[in-house]
Amino acid sequence: MKKALITGIRGQDGAYLAKLLLEMGYEVYGADRRSSDSSYWRLEKLKIKDKVKIIYMDLLEESNVFEVIKENKFDEIYNLAAQSFVHASFKQPLLTSNVNALGVLRILEAIRLFSKDSKFYQASTSELFGKVQEIPQKETTPFYPRSPYGVSKLFAHWITVNYREAYGMFNTCGILFNHESPLRSIEFITKKVVNSVCMVKKGMLESFKVGNIWAKRDWGYAPEYVYGMYLMMQHDYPDDFVLATGETHSVKELIEKAFQCVGIEIKWEEKNNRIVAVDNKGFIRVETDPEFFRPSEVDLLVGDYSKAKKVLGWEPKTKFDKLIEIMVEEELKDLEMLKVK
Ligand code: NDP
Ligand code: GDP
Repeated sequence: MKKALITGIRGQDGAYLAKLLLEMGYEVYGADRRSSDSSYWRLEKLKIKDKVKIIYMDLLEESNVFEVIKENKFDEIYNLAAQSFVHASFKQPLLTSNVNALGVLRILEAIRLFSKDSKFYQASTSELFGKVQEIPQKETTPFYPRSPYGVSKLFAHWITVNYREAYGMFNTCGILFNHESPLRSIEFITKKVVNSVCMVKKGMLESFKVGNIWAKRDWGYAPEYVYGMYLMMQHDYPDDFVLATGETHSVKELIEKAFQCVGIEIKWEEKNNRIVAVDNKGFIRVETDPEFFRPSEVDLLVGDYSKAKKVLGWEPKTKFDKLIEIMVEEELKDLEMLKVK
């Protein structure tokens, strides 16, 4: 039986990947940094909480990382842990860099010294492309990160590649474009919009605020992306792969689609120098607010996944419209449950 370690087990991808690996017959260990909040709601939602072996491991604590990797000799290590929110990285750049950049080096050193046969997956990101140098973006597109998050992930990406080349380690980087699901954290725009729109629909919220509605992203469906991670680790040799849908949509389109899903018509207007979305009864439902803008923005992301398709046989099945429909449907169910409770 193969033994896998997933860091970031409490996160969106950690939960979906754990489910997938359990289905594949793996013994799954989940690294948790330990907090006062003992809920594992994502694992519980996927009904796998009792099947994942939780290990305490904080990427900030070198001896902790060394000990866990030395003692367990995992076949595969998926590093999904991160301070993953771009906006927060502007407020906490040092913490973000310590976890996202040096944290990866701590794991790599532990593997190099104590468990050289462990395969390693690093969660790289389309944020590396930032101010894009090419459209669409692929593995060979030059990087130009636009946030402390992006820069920290750039270090992580290159140190992973460097350890592969210097020490012959099986290190793979998945350059994943945004991927979403009902398990996404509420601070990210898809979940925030879907949750807010559903609350408006149910009369639980009057309106909500967002930042830059012109930003465009390539949004895919998270369960399909963790399958891509798994495929990368089964490949004959370690390499870097883009996973994306090849479509791009703006935050404005996202808001329109979510309202359409719940049957509310909106139109955009300008009021007091702010853009607002008004419903057909004249109520303001969405407002832009400078609080949610970033000091420097990634304007447009759209990925070319042809290498993953050709080499791994990976392809996205769920595109933008379907993704938002899935998220809205699940959100409405969750809000119903809240009401019942
Ligand atoms: P989440 O934010 O949902 O999960 C990240 C996890 O990392 C959380 O469980 C968090 O723990 C954990 N973590 C944070 N700091 C530490 C630390 N010091 N030590 C140990 N664990 C820590 O992210 P996703 O699941 O969405 O993403 C997974 C990975 O993929 C991340 O690295 C992200 O940057 C990257 N990525 C994600 C994309 C996406 O669209 N989802 C796109 C491209 C890359 P806690 O629960 O305690 O806060
Ligand atoms: P990111 O691509 O990793 O930064 O994912 P996010 O979901 O956090 O943001 C995607 C895009 O939505 C970015 O360009 C944001 O600037 C934009 N955006 C606009 N309004 C908001 C908001 O209220 N919250 C978030 N998280 N993003 C917003």
